[in-house]
Amino acid sequence: MAVVDVALAGRSYRVRVGAGLLDVAHCEAHAFIEPYGMRSIPIVADANAKRLLGERLQASFRSAGHAIDWYEVTPGEGSKSWAELERLTDWLLTRGITRSDHVFALGGGVVGDLVGFACAILKRGCGFVQLPTTLLAQVDSSVGGKTAINASAGKNLIGAFHQPSLVLADTSCLATLPPREMRAGLAEVFKYGLLGDAEFFARVDESSEAILACDDGVLETTIAHCVGMKARIVAEDERETKDARALLNLGHTFGHALEAETGFGDRLLHGEAVALGMVLAARFSARRDLISLADAENVADALARAGLPTEISALGLDCDGAALADHMRHDKKAGGGTIPFILLRKLGEAYVARDVSLADVAAFMDEQLQ
Ligand code: NAD
Ligand code: MG
Repeated sequence: MAVVDVALAGRSYRVRVGAGLLDVAHCEAHAFIEPYGMRSIPIVADANAKRLLGERLQASFRSAGHAIDWYEVTPGEGSKSWAELERLTDWLLTRGITRSDHVFALGGGVVGDLVGFACAILKRGCGFVQLPTTLLAQVDSSVGGKTAINASAGKNLIGAFHQPSLVLADTSCLATLPPREMRAGLAEVFKYGLLGDAEFFARVDESSEAILACDDGVLETTIAHCVGMKARIVAEDERETKDARALLNLGHTFGHALEAETGFGDRLLHGEAVALGMVLAARFSARRDLISLADAENVADALARAGLPTEISALGLDCDGAALADHMRHDKKAGGGTIPFILLRKLGEAYVARDVSLADVAAFMDEQLQ
């Protein structure tokens, strides 16, 4: 088992990564379970995660003499809504939750973001424990304290920074994840290498087959490496007020435009959009002579080998570059008339460029759409 500490003074917490953690959750999360005494413990679960993993978690808690109260969340982005937030907070209040209680979140980024935000505002803040069950959630969304629901004006626009008290990333959960979801998570894994560690990028490229085949040993070292990188970044820049945390948005500004254009749905998963966005960021960096075109194509080749999409021309989008650039204008990271873009100085070294004109981006996107 790997352990990563997120060092945030009074809000520090531990991330554990390894196969079988769900089966010993009663030990690992002892400090957050014990205060419940005879009361049953609230677990908010994605319906698929509950069906596939609920029994294991229940057996663990039961072995320590605790009962569980399940709250089921319908899978999908639609659950990050005001309506679901209201239903969930009402349920937690009805159960008499106190500020010193911890709510458990079992599922992917949707459940983690929803529960995290509910706990940020419930009685002005109660605790929560993340039990991430997708690769994306294990390497990214369960760590770092960004929580949110969606607004009609856009994704993740209503939210708060609220750190979990513990994260248990059980790699064995990923065995049942649909391959497409697994690959989408792998895009975020590649992102860590591309933004800050070229050697790790090469290692992920070499081991992408083992990762997708859910080799527990490879998953543990790979996920722990990503979480370690994220922990260092979050410790340095918890609220994204400096450039450090912004680097995690590599591929996300381009990707966001593609997600917006395709309606944030099944047509293009977030991780797939990030894969395309990273290729675009690399090619745009080459266009600005920051890296060579060969380096940019190396990025595309590695992602393609892992089965991720790399060409926006293949998406069959019915729009031009200007329309895509316009979506970027509405990205929540945009501000003050400029949009910071994360570009590459070399493979494994990203930086925040503040001098990118949207007209230039639109012309570049037109070329890429051909
Ligand atoms: P998700 O939570 O929608 O899960 C993807 C699918 O996998 C769902 O259908 C779910 O039912 C299913 N699933 C979950 N665990 C499973 C398992 N073990 N076996 C089989 N199926 C399983 O998607 P996601 O990719 O985990 O998360 C995406 C969300 O995360 C987005 O809403 C995004 O905004 C958010 N996000 C947040 C952060 C952050 O820092 N807070 C970072 C990145 C993404
Ligand atoms: Mg992302």
